[in-house]
Amino acid sequence: MLRAVDIIAKKRDGLDLSTEEISFFVRGLTVGEIPDYQVAAWAMAVLCRGMTARETVDLTMAMVRSGEVLDLSGIAPIVVDKHSTGGVGDKTTLAVAPLVAAAGLPVAKMSGRGLGFSGGTLDKLEAIPGYDTSLSIERFLATVRHVGIVVAGQTADLAPADGKLYALRDVTATVPSLPLIASSVMSKKIASGAQAVVLDVKLGSGAFMPTLQEARALAQTMIAIGEGAGRRVTAVLSDMSQPLGRAVGNTLEVIEAVETLRGNGPPDFHEHCLVIAAEMLVLGALAATPEVARMILERELTEGRALHKMRDWVQAQGGDVRVLDDYSRMPQAPIVLDTPAPRSGYLAGVDAREVGLTAVGLGAGRERKGQAIDHAVGIVLGPKVGDWVGGGETLFTVHARDSAGASAARERLLAAYTWSDAPVSPPPLIYEVLRGR
Ligand code: URA
Repeated sequence: MLRAVDIIAKKRDGLDLSTEEISFFVRGLTVGEIPDYQVAAWAMAVLCRGMTARETVDLTMAMVRSGEVLDLSGIAPIVVDKHSTGGVGDKTTLAVAPLVAAAGLPVAKMSGRGLGFSGGTLDKLEAIPGYDTSLSIERFLATVRHVGIVVAGQTADLAPADGKLYALRDVTATVPSLPLIASSVMSKKIASGAQAVVLDVKLGSGAFMPTLQEARALAQTMIAIGEGAGRRVTAVLSDMSQPLGRAVGNTLEVIEAVETLRGNGPPDFHEHCLVIAAEMLVLGALAATPEVARMILERELTEGRALHKMRDWVQAQGGDVRVLDDYSRMPQAPIVLDTPAPRSGYLAGVDAREVGLTAVGLGAGRERKGQAIDHAVGIVLGPKVGDWVGGGETLFTVHARDSAGASAARERLLAAYTWSDAPVSPPPLIYEVLRGR
């Protein structure tokens, strides 16, 4: 008879788990027969010892089988999805999903919550009063069919094992593990049924895979899992050494995404969205090349259809669409503290992980499982790496619940900046694009 404790010990000792042991463990954690403390110990053993390619596929497919697998083939010839491996200020889905849907390609996406120092799309969307992230399968399908876009979270029906494991990993320092990230991402992607998936694989201090080599290995593992399950997959390896765009924190990121759909987004975020959206259109066979896709997407932006699609989407999921024209309808922080640059010079670095952890410290993310988060708080960054900054210019603005929190965040953030007297080149936004078969 299989026992959870033996499976934990086997992985602790660096041995490979059999397909049967992995299925047993995933089933047990899904139905609650294996308690959180054993799941957490197992996750730590996996993080320390790793998994083979075969174990990672077994883990992914066991998590897929923990719930239902949607079939979206009746909705459109191709429904597309995207997923980020997690970053700081990464609100890409909020802008890209309506942009791609406006171009005529349906988007059905199962998103996650904040994880460690990285934010989560579901938490961001819940800054919009009324927005419902937990849809039944029927409503998930009806929304993508009628509106061309749906973004929701795991349910008891879709990849529930990932929902449970994800919440535990968030608070047990077991996020940055290649097999755990790959299986978490790909189980959601396979279960939610889209035939084509663009993966945004982040690298840098604000990513779970800091180096190009690790990010590439994660991307290749996920492409292989997706293709094994009959999906078309492209992976974009993108920078996360500094936060993406300027806003970090839930309400603040929704505002930045909406402004991007209005054409007023920060240049790096705008460009990143176009790269990801273009790969989605190519994978979805709506454009032959990324260059053609960009022309289509730029038209959707400038002619206002992407923003219009966002309205339809937010409304369909129960959100108050008035927030798109009146941001004060979302939670607002009582303390807003501008911080001037302590010196002049070229900005050499803004440590994305420190910025993410500062946002979590303000209340934008979780330190305990299931903790409520504060949608109002966060940070808006001014200059980006490579910019010349004059002394006294606003370096960042902290949005906090109280003055003590704002001051603590200010000190921590100031220490996250590095400076140079000589010009500094900004890091590349995109490192490489890996296209599957
Ligand atoms: N995104 C996920 O869905 N899961 C992870 O483990 C990391 C990022």
